[in-house]
Amino acid sequence: MHAARDTRPAHVAVLGAGPAGLTAAWELLRAGIRVTVVERRAALGGLGGTTAWEGKDGTYRFDFGGHRFITANRDLMQLVDDLLGDDLLTAERHSVIRFRGRTYDYPLSLGNLLRNAPPGLLAGAARDVLAMSLKRPEPGHDFASWTTAMFGPTLYRTFFAGYTQKLWGVPPEMLSADWAEQRISLMDLREVARLLLPGGGRGPRTYARRYRYPRHGFGVIFERLARRLEREGATLATGTRVTGLAEGEAGVCAVLTDRGPIPCDGVISTLPLPQMQEMAGGGPSGLRFRGLRFLNFPMRMENVSPYTWQYLSDDTLPATRLQEPRRRSPEMAPPGMTSLMLEIPCDPGQPLWSGDDHALMDRMKPGLAALGIDMRRWTGEVWGARAAQAYPLMTLGYAEDRARAFAHLARWPNLVQCGRQGVFRYIFTDTAMEMGQMAAAMLISGRDMRAQIHDHRNERNVIEAQSIA
Ligand SMILES: Cc1cc2nc3c(=O)[nH]c(=O)nc-3n(C[C@H](O)[C@H](O)[C@H](O)COP(=O)(O)OP(=O)(O)OC[C@H]3O[C@@H](n4cnc5c(N)ncnc54)[C@H](O)[C@@H]3O)c2cc1C
Repeated sequence: MHAARDTRPAHVAVLGAGPAGLTAAWELLRAGIRVTVVERRAALGGLGGTTAWEGKDGTYRFDFGGHRFITANRDLMQLVDDLLGDDLLTAERHSVIRFRGRTYDYPLSLGNLLRNAPPGLLAGAARDVLAMSLKRPEPGHDFASWTTAMFGPTLYRTFFAGYTQKLWGVPPEMLSADWAEQRISLMDLREVARLLLPGGGRGPRTYARRYRYPRHGFGVIFERLARRLEREGATLATGTRVTGLAEGEAGVCAVLTDRGPIPCDGVISTLPLPQMQEMAGGGPSGLRFRGLRFLNFPMRMENVSPYTWQYLSDDTLPATRLQEPRRRSPEMAPPGMTSLMLEIPCDPGQPLWSGDDHALMDRMKPGLAALGIDMRRWTGEVWGARAAQAYPLMTLGYAEDRARAFAHLARWPNLVQCGRQGVFRYIFTDTAMEMGQMAAAMLISGRDMRAQIHDHRNERNVIEAQSIA
């Protein structure tokens, strides 16, 4: 048993230089605490980073999947505003689902469904509404039964089943309903039907249409934050991989890295929870991530489409989303040009993960042409990127594995996990940053806030923050 901590730490090691880690480091510095941020990559920003590529026609910038900044937290918005000033733009989201040659608004809306869906689909959905109003099905614990209970079998089969299998690589019956409850920006089918009636309602209020985006990519938020940290005296140890933790009398006394130990008396970790459990001697956790491979490619035209995201539901393409970075900021591509990004879910070791970018582009070309994209405008260049731990895979039973990992790490009172990989939750950047702030507050105050941090903004059915943008 370790002694209770009654003083503020003198030197905190922050593990990971993504949004959560950098925000935590900023809060610690403001409280006068020495900070070392340890990051295995050379670049900063983690999954929130942006990469610049030099093409034949100029510079293109790509995020890891095209981010947007939304938050309901005024203080956080102020921090990002201060960092970016005039370089913070406001954009509007317009996303669609592409399926079997048709284009539907995302989130689904009734008017749009009625205009676009084939009669068979509409008849099936209408039958489902009727059946569900006679007997409401109980939403189950798995994704398939939860989504079927909410939207009916017809919409589930059409819009969710195939896409979900492609995204997660496991049958929807094996996924926890937690993911659906927190992430699906839709009302349930009966509510959609109710909106048909005059004065029936105004649509989903939890869906944020407007968002903020830096002129030169999402990652600029974190590049600026990192520069500010350095100016204020933080050490940023990039290109340094954390390999273990050393234990002293009061908890963790040093972080072990491939460049040697870093002595410290407090640790904020944003590293993947399963990795931390193993480093702390807890053995394998059973928790897994889903990876993403990105293909980024320039097009000789100014605009491909008006869409922020196109969700690709057909199984003819292994990609799940297509996006055009210029929809976020016109300066993501050189003048007169635009670019596209394909997101392809796959995991290290699978054939889709390895292999040449050009060969994979060749495989994608027919599917892209079928979406109406004029591939004769492609410059022939392609830049690939990979994120092995893009999404926490919330299979049935994940919550118990997660709880066991936290219990194992709880034995060190001066160690706190936060961030998306750190707490193994599908959270947005603003929540990751808030968790970083809370983790810093915990070490500064000495009050154990770990349970609160791990479940921060875990409200059921809250889908997206109503952005104050
Ligand atoms: C495709 C995609 C789209 C997204 N879109 C949005 C969006 O539109 N809006 C939004 O708000 N959020 C979005 N997100 C979520 C957002 O990216 C994350 O919430 C956010 O990046 C989490 O920040 P973090 O600091 O917790 O984790 P990360 O950004 O993952 O940072 C963790 C850091 O730890 C480092 N690390 C890992 N292991 C080690 C080690 N052993 N040693 C040293 N360093 C290590 C990693 O390199 C990384 O830099 C999206 C995510 C994805 C994948």
